[in-house]
Amino acid sequence: MNYKIFKCKRCNHEWPSKQERPRVCPKCKSPYWDKERKNAPNKAFNKYLKGEPLSDSEKRSLDEYGDDNCGLLPVRQFEKLLETPT
Ligand SMILES: [Zn+2]
Repeated sequence: MNYKIFKCKRCNHEWPSKQERPRVCPKCKSPYWDKERKNAPNKAFNKYLKGEPLSDSEKRSLDEYGDDNCGLLPVRQFEKLLETPT
C-alpha cells in the first residue's frame, strides 16, 4: 500500500493516507485543508455584523472562511446565528 503524506494548510497537521485526496483534515476537520486560508470576506462579514441579509454566495464565502476549527473566528457560533431568524 502506498501512503501519501498530506499536509493541512489550515493547521499544518501532516498525516499519511491512502486516499487520493482526503475529504477533511483528520485534525481540524476542515474540508478546505488543501486550500490556502482566504482573507476574511470582510464585506460579507460586515454585512452580517450589521444584521443585513446575506446572499448565498456571501454565506458561502463566510462558510468557507469559517469552516476551519484552527481559525480565530468562532464560526460555528456564526453559522448558528446565520441560521437563526432574527
Ligand atoms: Zn488541519
